[in-house]
Amino acid sequence: MKRIYLDYAATTPIDPGVSEKINKISFELFGNPSSLHSFGREAGNALEESRKQIASIINARPDEIIFTSGGTESDNLAVKGAAFANRKKGNHIITSAIEHHAVHETCKYLETSGFDVTYIGTDSNGVIEPDEIKKALKKDTILISIMHANNEIGSIQPIGEIGKLARKYGIIFHTDAVQSTGHIDTDVELLNVDLLSASAHKFYGPKGVGFLYKKNNIVLDPQLHGGSQEFGLRASTQNLPGIAGMAHALEIAVKELNTESKRQVFLRDKLINSVLNNISNTKLNGHRTKRLPNNANFSFSFIEGEAILLSLDFEGIAASSGSACSSSSFAPSHVLEAIGLDVETARGSLRFSIGKYTTEEDIDFTIKSLEKIITKLRKMSPLCRS
Ligand SMILES: *Cc1c(COP(=O)(O)O)cnc(C)c1O
Repeated sequence: MKRIYLDYAATTPIDPGVSEKINKISFELFGNPSSLHSFGREAGNALEESRKQIASIINARPDEIIFTSGGTESDNLAVKGAAFANRKKGNHIITSAIEHHAVHETCKYLETSGFDVTYIGTDSNGVIEPDEIKKALKKDTILISIMHANNEIGSIQPIGEIGKLARKYGIIFHTDAVQSTGHIDTDVELLNVDLLSASAHKFYGPKGVGFLYKKNNIVLDPQLHGGSQEFGLRASTQNLPGIAGMAHALEIAVKELNTESKRQVFLRDKLINSVLNNISNTKLNGHRTKRLPNNANFSFSFIEGEAILLSLDFEGIAASSGSACSSSSFAPSHVLEAIGLDVETARGSLRFSIGKYTTEEDIDFTIKSLEKIITKLRKMSPLCRS
């Protein structure tokens, strides 16, 4: 059976060129980058080369890139690191109600250690109004953390504007750019950010590796203690094959970005328009245009997202109901709740995220299958009155 993967926001397959690079480096440059002999020096040079590549792509300096084990660690290092290092200056943190768990749960944790956190709401399209952040500012605000693009509903936030505000008040500004890096422009100067998190497996790189951009003047408390790797901010021997693979993956993603994003916007819009036009009682979640090129999230009234998901899976189509973390629990996603969906509507929601291996044929087949599945499930649904 043909299988169609439409869950690129959860993770992407590795680019073949990237996996080749990882294999090669694993064998040829196995030295510890901190070792002083030639094996170590060679590995160290490759490490610094990767740092330069990534820095240049996001318009940063090489010494502003810290390698980590992925998006979650980058978010933890940014948020906890900035909070604990600046505790003497203040105790207040501003974040949004739609952050990924990696930021959301980290902020919840900080509350248990005495920090005061404000969770800013969004409009019904899942977009944050910079004015709302301005209103939430306190004398002792030390950190603002707002994601660049949402992983569930794809909405893109006005990061540049929020960054300007943060600069004006001298507050550290972090953005979780895990969904946007390699997919839309993430120039740190245009975004006005001090800290930016990214993860390789969301842009066709390997799993378990990511980076944190940290502007030079920003002080962080390390969250892993040990050796002095990564400017003393992240102990542990660097995962050079993964890091070099990530740098290569980001280069490819950025090179393909213009053509690929146009292609994906076309497929995304075909999916969105067909679903909204052909299937009754259906709504799009997230902003119609200020959204990731690869994201479509719908609510189908009267039925459960999980039931649609399983029926799609039976047809070989992989989508996602809620984020991966909440899909095993019955609680509706905090993101769908934040944009004002009632519990029933949130439960009938499904995310489709497309990628560079998605074809128009895949989308056409998905639309047909969806129509068939929704009709069938609604016929059986006790909730359906239409
Ligand atoms: C996937 C994701 C993360 C977590 O990244 P990992 O590399 O899986 O730890 C964090 N934030 C967002 C927005 C994500 O989509």
